[in-house]
Amino acid sequence: MDFEFDLENRIVDPEGIPEDTELENPLRPKVLSEYIGQEKVKENLSVFIEAAKLRKESLDHVLLYGPPGLGKTTLAGIIANELNVNIRITSGPAIEKPGDLAALLTNLNTGDVLFIDEIHRLSRSVEEILYPAMEDFAIDIITGKGQMAASYHLPLPRFTLVGATTRAGQLTAPLRDRFGVVLRLEMYTPEELATIVRRSASILNIPVDQEGALEIASRSRGTPRIANRLLKRVRDFAQVISDGLITYETAKTALDRLEIDELGLDANDRRMLDTLIRYYKGGPVGLETLAAAIGEEAVTIEDVYEPYLMQIGFLNRTPRGRCATHAAYLHLGLTPPGMEAAQQKLF
Ligand code: ADP
Repeated sequence: MDFEFDLENRIVDPEGIPEDTELENPLRPKVLSEYIGQEKVKENLSVFIEAAKLRKESLDHVLLYGPPGLGKTTLAGIIANELNVNIRITSGPAIEKPGDLAALLTNLNTGDVLFIDEIHRLSRSVEEILYPAMEDFAIDIITGKGQMAASYHLPLPRFTLVGATTRAGQLTAPLRDRFGVVLRLEMYTPEELATIVRRSASILNIPVDQEGALEIASRSRGTPRIANRLLKRVRDFAQVISDGLITYETAKTALDRLEIDELGLDANDRRMLDTLIRYYKGGPVGLETLAAAIGEEAVTIEDVYEPYLMQIGFLNRTPRGRCATHAAYLHLGLTPPGMEAAQQKLF
């Protein structure tokens, strides 16, 4: 199959791919009680939302951070829904000029949610408009140049900014400090993902049993977006190789054929670990060197490959570079360093 090294359309890519949009919208939970997992985040949010409603005030600005596909956009929609307000959705790179942001802000109604995805990618000049908007609910607009220049102080309705980022560390301190609520999303357990798979399956009318859902879940890298995508792929197999019901056996056969292993690693993850082990003796190796060796961008390695590999204990980030762990060697069927001697003694 040719998707093996198709970096554009990795089946286990936690970033959205075009086919997801049509799939994701009906699957997004609309209220907090339908949002599975992330118990701490939900508990805190529900208190803040209730308090804002009781005081009839806008909710404090909220920053959501964590790897892609964990439900940040979904949560922003839920916040707006629970507050009974409208949501405007945009992203850091889409707001090119300060004027673009000013236009968005002046079109908001009182209490509305403005969702900015990838907020760490806002340009400096746009960010500077955001500070007074977040803090004082006002912006200063300068028109014209030289002697014709004029400055207008424009009050804004009280709104709630929900920012999402995969990299809280890249946010400037003044921006980070202006969020009253900062919530970190964690990767999901296989049990939570199995619940998400069953929920999605019932919305999409896909028959799946508990073991089938759990098998898809445990190969989904802790990420709901991937779980939903794999469910759709496995359905195709189930229709062709069995009577349509997704059981443990059909899920396993389908995912094996798609070359997604029991831990959810695909050919790209295995290739990266293999390169790290064979060419760099398991590390430490610098991020840029590793990126060049596998022909991938450093940010993709950091945002897409590494969070899960670290989560399952296959990779360590050290000050001197990336290191493969013994568990990674064993998963690839290789002998970890220091164990050769032990093995010789055994045999
Ligand atoms: P992010 O913005 O973090 O990249 P999204 O909010 O777009 O992630 O979520 C991706 C998909 O995963 C959504 O379509 C949604 O259906 C599903 N999803 C995410 N989190 C949950 C959850 N807690 N419960 C159920 N489905 C979820």
